[in-house]
Amino acid sequence: MERKTVTMEKLVALCKARGIIFAGSEIYGGMGNTWDYGPVGVEIKNNVKRAWWKRFVQESDNSYGVDAAILMNSRVWEASGHTTSFSDPKMDCKECKSRHRADTLIEAHSKGKVNPDAMSNAEMEAYIQEHRVNCPVCGKFNWTNIRTFNLMFETSRGVTDESQNKIYLRPETAQGEFVNFLNVQRTTRAKIPFGIAQIGKAFRNEITPGNFIFRTIEFEQMEHQWFCKEGTDEEYYRAFKQRAWQFLLDLGFNKEHLRFKDHDKLAHYAKEACDIQYDFPMGWSELNGIHNRTDYDLSRHQEYSGKSLTYVDPVSGERYIPYVVEYSIGADRLMLAVLSEAYDEETLENGEVRNVMHFHPAIAAYKAAILPLQKNLAPQARELWERLRKLFPVTYDEAGSIGKRYRRQDEIGTPFCLTVDFDSLQDGTVTLRDRDTMQQQRLSPEGVIAYITEKIAF
Ligand code: ATP
Repeated sequence: MERKTVTMEKLVALCKARGIIFAGSEIYGGMGNTWDYGPVGVEIKNNVKRAWWKRFVQESDNSYGVDAAILMNSRVWEASGHTTSFSDPKMDCKECKSRHRADTLIEAHSKGKVNPDAMSNAEMEAYIQEHRVNCPVCGKFNWTNIRTFNLMFETSRGVTDESQNKIYLRPETAQGEFVNFLNVQRTTRAKIPFGIAQIGKAFRNEITPGNFIFRTIEFEQMEHQWFCKEGTDEEYYRAFKQRAWQFLLDLGFNKEHLRFKDHDKLAHYAKEACDIQYDFPMGWSELNGIHNRTDYDLSRHQEYSGKSLTYVDPVSGERYIPYVVEYSIGADRLMLAVLSEAYDEETLENGEVRNVMHFHPAIAAYKAAILPLQKNLAPQARELWERLRKLFPVTYDEAGSIGKRYRRQDEIGTPFCLTVDFDSLQDGTVTLRDRDTMQQQRLSPEGVIAYITEKIAF
């Protein structure tokens, strides 16, 4: 399938104009790389999260959800290794004082041909020297050495200075699942293998945020940790790669826009790791990660907390620390991919260009828009609106020509428009127009309910 004409500028403009995403703190001139979801955007994002939760928790035999605190005991981050090694290699331009990630500079300079993930800091410095990689902001070549920069946001806890303790805004949700491993196991009586999932905010003081909601300093993650026995971990790692891929296809992604990318340099705890990359408007980039984390996480928490996190097999009595296969995806990053994938510009027979978002109906903010053909049909249309909104999110619009109203709904991806016209007064039927095909059919209200219910299933 041919790539659509989507650019980041077009997406940002559409999102702003249609109440999907606004710049954060806009009336104060913004706050770099923070974004606020508007009335349409919050619905879409909630639907994205719901679809994920349904697939990975609700439809699973043995995966359970948690909603852990953002602020955790600082020892958690010592155990996880974040206080010592959650950092990026940064360089400052001595001329214009802009700050950059060394790995990003190399990636951009080599047009993706050199992979800095496999390089040490010294190797990255040498590459930048040898290839005279200039500052992308001022074009000069006058760098500091690489310094590592911890990405965790710090804050402090306590009322008086004396009692202040440094705490962190969590940089990932995963630790909330690990520290609750035994709580979940005990209360659900789950047997290994089983999963713990969480959706929640994470914060990273990213050196180079950007590309709209792709990389921000505050974002939401959807993470699923699968606890299994050593020896079965590789099989589950493969299974989760498949499940993560299938989830994206079911959301409507074209598989030509997705690819797996194995990690060249594994984190110290990882046995195998890969990303699924998406062909975003700015190019191929990570959409989600799948990691075989071995028994690192639970072993470290056992060591640092002094509490046993050993699992006892109820049948064999065997005792062991489970392995973890992690599947992690950013809700906002998935939202950007969903928006990019849905975006389309169609030239109609009359030469007009129609902007349309082809969201899966389960993801669309409103499942239908109710449009009285003329204002004097409003009472009948409002009656239908009241009936349908008890069942699913629907919107109502009586302003402007019917053509303009269709276009507005196309731009926010409403899959069906229901027009109430003069025939509706006679027999109660309405016209249902399909967003993608623009075909129309007449249906009774009961027919509409059955039709939409079937289409919005995920
Ligand atoms: P990247 O290489 O892009 O910095 P990462 O490998 O550090 O990402 P993980 O720590 O594995 O990412 O986080 C899991 C997922 O969380 C990522 O695949 C991405 O979807 C999302 N994510 C990570 N950092 C951000 C961010 N700053 N803004 C938005 N989403 C993010």
